[in-house]
Amino acid sequence: MRVGLDVGGTKTDAVVVDDAGAVAGRIRLATLWGAEGVARTVADAVAALGTLPGVDPTRFRTVGIGMPGQVRPGTMRVTHALNLGVAEMDVHRTIQPLLGLPVRVENDVKAAAVGAASLRDGDSLAYLNLGTGIAAGIVVDGRVWRGGRGTAGEVGHISVDPGGPRCRCGGRGCIEAMAGGASIAERWDRPGEYPVRDVFDAADRGDALAARLRADLAVAVAAAVRILVLTADVDAVVLGGGLTALRERLLPDVRRALETGAAGSPFLRSLALADRIEALPEGSPAAAVGAAIVGGALDSEEVVAHG
Ligand SMILES: [Zn+2]
Repeated sequence: MRVGLDVGGTKTDAVVVDDAGAVAGRIRLATLWGAEGVARTVADAVAALGTLPGVDPTRFRTVGIGMPGQVRPGTMRVTHALNLGVAEMDVHRTIQPLLGLPVRVENDVKAAAVGAASLRDGDSLAYLNLGTGIAAGIVVDGRVWRGGRGTAGEVGHISVDPGGPRCRCGGRGCIEAMAGGASIAERWDRPGEYPVRDVFDAADRGDALAARLRADLAVAVAAAVRILVLTADVDAVVLGGGLTALRERLLPDVRRALETGAAGSPFLRSLALADRIEALPEGSPAAAVGAAIVGGALDSEEVVAHG
């Protein structure tokens, strides 16, 4: 049995996957702050999984952890996991001793891409995470495509509007500046627990700023889909992340933006971009399952053959 954890800014999703690849147990718990808090959360999650009915913790073989931030290929070092309060963390030193099991860590979006690919038929996909920020993981033949320096899939910082809003990366009109939850909340600048939902509601009521932000969101997500298909020719672009809670309202806008963008181009129309979009079901364990697969690759060297 392989354990997989998706350590997020507020909660951690943990699964046990059996040898046939089925989820044998799942728990969720709040993520504690900082490197020590993350290590404690991981240890608590693994222990809690071991108490679930039908789960025998002596059969746990590996632990895979998906975390936001940068994971240097081939290392156990995580940096810039800012929404976990972690500037730098050596997972080998801090977490492995608490577990007594082989541990591997992966960027959370790349882990989710692996999980989404395992839960779906087909050779290739991109997982496009629509959350506070925007990033994608590309899986080809069951393996994460990293590129030369691990940057492949970082579509959030491709500028699609030179006159667009400033991005936290310093650029202007980045996909993330137009479609990232944090950027939308900042541009909306009104109190509320779910700013993007508020923007959709206000746009429905005819608010001009909200309509602009909602249109920008659709255009930027459509651009990300177009870029992912044109660069990697993935069969599907699977959407996940917090913003997909609004999928029923978001997807028609995105499909329309893709169709409008392709209207004058027989080539783009032939790619059927809008038909390649899928969304993870609500509450999907894809990210934690992907982490379990990445951890399990310790034995097989699948998925992470190049780090
Ligand atoms: Zn940017």
